[in-house]
Amino acid sequence: MTDDRRAELAANLAGVQERIAAACAAAGRPREEVTLIVVTKTYPASDVRILHGLGVRHVAENRDQDAAPKAAACADLDIHWHFVGQLQTNKVRSVAGYADTVQSVDRLRLVTALSKAAVRAGREITCLVQVALDAESGQGERGGVAPDGVAELADAVAGSPGLRLGGLMTVAPLRGPYAGRQQAAFERLMESSSRLRADHPAANMVSAGMSADLEQAVAAGATHVRVGTAVLGVRPRLG
Ligand SMILES: *Cc1c(COP(=O)(O)O)cnc(C)c1O
Repeated sequence: MTDDRRAELAANLAGVQERIAAACAAAGRPREEVTLIVVTKTYPASDVRILHGLGVRHVAENRDQDAAPKAAACADLDIHWHFVGQLQTNKVRSVAGYADTVQSVDRLRLVTALSKAAVRAGREITCLVQVALDAESGQGERGGVAPDGVAELADAVAGSPGLRLGGLMTVAPLRGPYAGRQQAAFERLMESSSRLRADHPAANMVSAGMSADLEQAVAAGATHVRVGTAVLGVRPRLG
């Protein structure tokens, strides 16, 4: 059973690696510019262990209830854990215990809470500001801050003890002017990234692209792609 699962994950992973390599080649970008993050939400810690054995070092989760026990079960592995889900402040202390990067920073209250928790845990957490390209102002439906709110949040992260400003993240919008236009959405994110880097040159991470649209993300300039389904299979439940 485990051998079967290993073979399945190995084949899927190879397929995704090929897609990333092809997308980099098409964009004239070196392959090393793009980091694959495997999104293991809804799948067990045993899959994380198999993926680690296959060379995966970046893993993402979107719910603390699932992520905390999984990270604990894999504490012996050198894995960089990314938190990519909407994050409530009452979960921040738990998330700060295992997450190396939080990609879904979208409001000031969260920055304050993360900073406090990181300091308390004696850890440094890399933060990405999640940009909602479907929001005119305020927050997006699936989390994220409207583009005009990015600078304020980025400055707050950069000025907070225990936090390091890594860059930006987005999820291609299902509604609004960018619905069905992933490449345009990711190019818009890159504009925000350029603006951000003018003030924070080290904040050069751009996390965009999932199983269905990683090619468009790589073409636009993403440095990190977050792939779940294409590696692990269709999720047993919504996650
Ligand atoms: C689930 C998830 C992914 C991966 O999506 P797939 O379509 O399964 O590749 C990427 N990013 C976020 C924020 C997610 O929640």
